[in-house]
Amino acid sequence: MQQEHLFKVLVIGDLGVGKTSIIKRYVHQIFSQHYRATIGVDFALKVLHWDSDTVIRLQLWDIAGQERYGNMTRVYYREAVGALVVFDVTRASTFDAVLKWKDDLDTKVTLSHGKPVPAVLLANKSDQVCSQQPRLDTFCRENGFVGWFETSAKENTNIEAAARCLVEHILANE
Ligand code: GDP
Ligand code: MG
Repeated sequence: MQQEHLFKVLVIGDLGVGKTSIIKRYVHQIFSQHYRATIGVDFALKVLHWDSDTVIRLQLWDIAGQERYGNMTRVYYREAVGALVVFDVTRASTFDAVLKWKDDLDTKVTLSHGKPVPAVLLANKSDQVCSQQPRLDTFCRENGFVGWFETSAKENTNIEAAARCLVEHILANE
């Protein structure tokens, strides 16, 4: 018997950190320098053949412009089961905003048993820095992230790995 899951996953973080680029890379295998900030909420669907008897549909919710106003409405968060929280390694202010986004997430959605939804932290645009991103293990442990990855939507680094990590944690909550 094949099992099918539909998971709503939020992609959050400040404007310009690469949320849309990460989704486009992950779902459509494309990257563009062209900056597009549409207004509203965008969806993309990624189908994962997880194992021989599990198909996972990831419904990725992109913010598309509203992040400039800070936090998001509860409607956006409703029934989410996981989140990717993104910052831009070239802009420290976007890392400072990570905790604000995590807090927004945790105050606006919890799983049915009251646990916070799993969140993975993405240090994006890692192709733009030569020095390594300082390790974020302690930061993640202290702030309730299930893991972190240095990603590049441009060079397609670690995006699949980050998504896999998130899905493993989502499945563990099923
Ligand atoms: P969003 O506002 O968070 O959705 O950010 P976008 O996806 O629109 O990206 C903002 C800008 O950063 C665009 O010009 C992208 O091409 C660029 N960008 C996104 N991801 C990366 C990356 O991994 N590396 C580099 N070098 N640029 C990126
Ligand atoms: Mg965007």
